Amino acid sequence: MLTSYDLAERGLSPQRTARSLEGASAEPYWLDDPDRPDPLPALAGDAAADLAVVGGGYAGLWTALMAKERDPGRRVILLEGRRVAWAASGRNGGFCEASLTHGDANGLKHLPGEAELLNRMGLENLDEIAKTVARYGIDCGFERTGTISVATEPHQVQWLEDEARAAGGDPDVVFLDRDAVRSELDSPLYLAGLWDRRHAALLHPARLAWGLQRACLAAGVEIHEHTPVRALAEDGDRVRLAVDGGTVTAARVALATNAFPSLLKRTRLYTVPVYDYALMTEPLTDGQLADLGWRNRQGISDLNNRFHYYRPTTDRDGRTRILFGGYDAVYHYGRSLKPGHDQRRETFERLSAHFAATFPQLGDVRFSHAWGGAIDTCSRFFSFFSTACGGKVAYSAGYTGLGVGATRFGANVMLDLLSGESTERTRLEMVRRKPIPFPPEPLAWAGVRLTTAAMIRADRRQGRRGPLLKVLDAVGMGFDS
Ligand SMILES: Cc1cc2nc3c(=O)[nH]c(=O)nc-3n(C[C@H](O)[C@H](O)[C@H](O)COP(=O)(O)OP(=O)(O)OC[C@H]3O[C@@H](n4cnc5c(N)ncnc54)[C@H](O)[C@@H]3O)c2cc1C
Repeated sequence: MLTSYDLAERGLSPQRTARSLEGASAEPYWLDDPDRPDPLPALAGDAAADLAVVGGGYAGLWTALMAKERDPGRRVILLEGRRVAWAASGRNGGFCEASLTHGDANGLKHLPGEAELLNRMGLENLDEIAKTVARYGIDCGFERTGTISVATEPHQVQWLEDEARAAGGDPDVVFLDRDAVRSELDSPLYLAGLWDRRHAALLHPARLAWGLQRACLAAGVEIHEHTPVRALAEDGDRVRLAVDGGTVTAARVALATNAFPSLLKRTRLYTVPVYDYALMTEPLTDGQLADLGWRNRQGISDLNNRFHYYRPTTDRDGRTRILFGGYDAVYHYGRSLKPGHDQRRETFERLSAHFAATFPQLGDVRFSHAWGGAIDTCSRFFSFFSTACGGKVAYSAGYTGLGVGATRFGANVMLDLLSGESTERTRLEMVRRKPIPFPPEPLAWAGVRLTTAAMIRADRRQGRRGPLLKVLDAVGMGFDS
């Protein structure tokens, strides 16, 4: 049986879809901002630090900032291969969620003994992000509006009812029947919704990163952009990082390189880069906004294996757009990462058709920006940690499409690991146990293709998972964006 989105693709005119994407910029909307900070100088020559951080996304920025907050006297250098936030941290959906485990159900499946503790730590982490944003005056449009999971297929209504029951009367988790969900946001595809009011915020992703960058610089962190680290080696009681034309030696090193090849070769098989895509509409008119009725401005996602996520923005001039992303999750043979993968016409056309089916009342809305980016997918869908060089190097990755909030937690774990102390965080099974690695090629590619096909089939069979997905579930492996 076809899903609502399959039908949407069949029913829409290619001319309309092409028109909607005409002239769309390939730059991520969030980075196309006159307030983007000026480039910081590359490192010239040699340097020494107490802590060197590699990677200028959220994970690296949080690590550097919190290192200074813990000990203002230490010398911290952050090395970024290109520009701060050019990668996932500047091109994501801006859903900042409390979950550290890619959703409660996934946490319960992998770490049943720890799920409750991780929920508490995740909520604390989100609260701390809110406090940090306020403390440093980070102008990133942080709005704790929560998220609504929407049922777009009849069998999904029961899933939401079950989830609402499992929340055990939590006043912040509200089941919305068809009329109630459509009064929050009007779409003919919606059959029910579950509004979680507390565990998520929306924000402007790049502005969060730039605000963290500003806070780092004010705290004395030295940041060098256009400074790719080429190699890492232990050197007595220090670690040497080779950069073009120089060396950084540091007592401790935190690696926050996400989907990019790890400087620790042995961690490379734990992730595969998966491309995820998003569209941004042009600003909506007041009439269009009134037709949506989105007064509580929640983030939305649906419940298919191939799911969409979408949200309103607030532009500098007070106007609102809609970001609409997700659905396709694309893996390229050989863990390939290259700028050409950021654009994918067939995915943009598909998203445009799905958008039109979701909001037919908006008419011929056009998209001003269409972009993609790499996600560091690991087989359990949440972060893992590693140390090397006798504990002088810490590494974290594997956030799998839910790293806006969780990278702050990961940064704290890396700092704990580097301090050598046993903490509540370092004692977690989540931190001690690694996911099952993906196989080398050609098995990784074949496995991802087969799994994607099985997920599409499950979406078309009222969510029923076939034999391959059942086996993967049983061994604790999967593929997601
Ligand atoms: C399209 C898209 C939508 C998403 N939507 C959401 C969402 O709504 N909510 C959510 O929670 N998550 C989302 N994510 C995931 C989220 O963006 C990431 O989990 C998060 O940004 C990861 O941050 P990071 O610092 O680990 O990685 P990145 O932001 O990728 O930063 C890593 C940095 O390391 C640098 N680097 C790599 N190797 C080296 C080296 N050798 N030397 C120097 N520098 C190096 C890179 O240049 C890069 O800047 C999305 C991701 C994408 C791509």
